[in-house]
Amino acid sequence: MKTATERRELLKGLYAEVRDCTRCPLHHTRTQAVFGAGNADAELMFIGEAPGASEDRMGLPFVGAAGKLLDRLLEEIGLNRKDVWIGNVLRCRPPDNRDPQPREIAACQDYLFEQVRLIEPVVICTLGNFSTKLLRADTTGISRLHGREEVRVIGFRAVRLYPLYHPAAALYTPSMLETLRTDFQRIPELLAQGPPEQPQLEEDELPDLDELEFEDSEQSDGVTSGDRPEPAPQLGLF
Ligand code: SF4
Repeated sequence: MKTATERRELLKGLYAEVRDCTRCPLHHTRTQAVFGAGNADAELMFIGEAPGASEDRMGLPFVGAAGKLLDRLLEEIGLNRKDVWIGNVLRCRPPDNRDPQPREIAACQDYLFEQVRLIEPVVICTLGNFSTKLLRADTTGISRLHGREEVRVIGFRAVRLYPLYHPAAALYTPSMLETLRTDFQRIPELLAQGPPEQPQLEEDELPDLDELEFEDSEQSDGVTSGDRPEPAPQLGLF
């Protein structure tokens, strides 16, 4: 068992890997990778789809109108961003906000699983179809699954998975917003249930950060990790 401090330090190491990641072609077009932000010891995680233009520019997840709605919904259940972790299936923006492609999702999913292992959440709310399908390893859509919690093993951790509509989809559809708000109200109850029973894994079955295979950090533009400025904002909330 690692302490919260040790897990936070490992998360910072993972952040450094993601910042210079070249595992899929999205590194060619991103301004910066969006690692995710929030409390490194959060009981509640939100996982959306991918950074948009504002997120790509600022390096933070959910900073636009959908992010403001997420803030408001959190406030209604007595929480704020400092209490939770917010991230995405992809850490780099797809050009023109197109849908994530399977090869990009496959290339990026280890980062998500490692974040889950290090943060040790009790509840993961998937926001919309992409994260719901990825974390359930199933093609069932969000309209059938929203508001229905289940225990799932994500990477190496059992969590209470709770699919929700994506706030961006709810922004302009009042009925969907009301459904999202109603589903949100159940989050405190799920958190109060505590973590589900964890799978029994031997220490040597757990992946180590050093064992994750990352490509060489040299970028296509010839800039290496050592040349890059330190984009501090994402670490500011850890
Ligand atoms: S695998 Fe993820 S972090 Fe790496 S370039 Fe692709 S989207 Fe970005």
